[in-house]
Amino acid sequence: MRIDLKGLDTQETEQWAADQGFEPFRARQIRQWLFKKLVSSFDEMTNLPKNLRAILHEKALITALECVKTQESNDGTKKYLFRLKDDYLIESVLIPEQNHYTCCISSQVGCAMDCRFCLTAKKGLRRNLSSSEIIEQVIHVKRSIPNQDQIRNIVFMGMGEPLANYEAVKKAIINLMNDDGLNLSKRRITLSTCGLVPGINRLGREMNIKLAVSLNAPDDDIRDALMPINRKYPLRELLEACRTFPLHKGERITFEYVLIKGINDQDQHAQDLVKLLAGIRSKINLIPLNPHKGIPMLPPSEETVLRFQDMLIKKHFTAIVRKSRGSDILAACGQLGSEGLD
Ligand code: SAH
Repeated sequence: MRIDLKGLDTQETEQWAADQGFEPFRARQIRQWLFKKLVSSFDEMTNLPKNLRAILHEKALITALECVKTQESNDGTKKYLFRLKDDYLIESVLIPEQNHYTCCISSQVGCAMDCRFCLTAKKGLRRNLSSSEIIEQVIHVKRSIPNQDQIRNIVFMGMGEPLANYEAVKKAIINLMNDDGLNLSKRRITLSTCGLVPGINRLGREMNIKLAVSLNAPDDDIRDALMPINRKYPLRELLEACRTFPLHKGERITFEYVLIKGINDQDQHAQDLVKLLAGIRSKINLIPLNPHKGIPMLPPSEETVLRFQDMLIKKHFTAIVRKSRGSDILAACGQLGSEGLD
């Protein structure tokens, strides 16, 4: 089987080069072509000797994603639809901020977590993405914008549950962060999870990136009903993992809370949430539900959203109502994959 070079880290690339009889600096050159110059073929690697290029052609490959469609929202958010080698489709989203971009990437084709309010969950899990399929989303998006250095934040908030594909996600993160990879600051990489407790603990031990938790409920009853994963890892265990998650000075855990009309948007829920998160260095992102005909739930009124936010702020929480970006092209939270999975 041919080796997929973007799925290797620095040492593995050097080892591979050594196995072919080449010096480590050849591996560094290859990585430069892949992660700095963003080439998509070996023929472009012009400073490599011919015999090495021949070996690359024979024994290695560069994963490419075929971009079959891009859509741009009124607010500038751009959605990329990619076709994988086995014809599955995945989506990534580029979100323009004032002076930079946030790139939202997928970690799986579909998702097995079955959250009741999420469109991606509807069709179940098809398969995990490889580490190179994960990082290639960023590379493709980077290539497509005029100033490539403007991609500043990466969020694992696309399709899939990243902690359910831990190994590949970890590898991709290493190449996102490394100097000889995409060289992005670890403080600007955020992994969002529905609450896989062992994965959160492992992430805390092994990777120094930011954590976001899709909380979405102030108690176990509501969370059980919305997110089946809560029956396996109830709130007590989830919040214990958050309490012990290593944070640097000034860092906080982001809690996403999708506000759903009549389900988790009442005053009592805000009060319970305040108690639940006491003592955790947190920031709360309130996301009014993005509705869809496939989901029998609605967002609260704007008034209710602001009231909920206000109750949290009065208790000294940082609570932000997240503007829904890209919902007109189904690129907003929980809307990815509707197209790809049909
Ligand atoms: N599986 C991970 C990564 C996906 S992030 C996780 O659950 O965190 C996607 C985010 O969108 C999650 O915070 C989820 O709670 C939110 N979301 C899902 N469906 C939504 C919807 N219909 N409206 C608004 N947000 C939604």
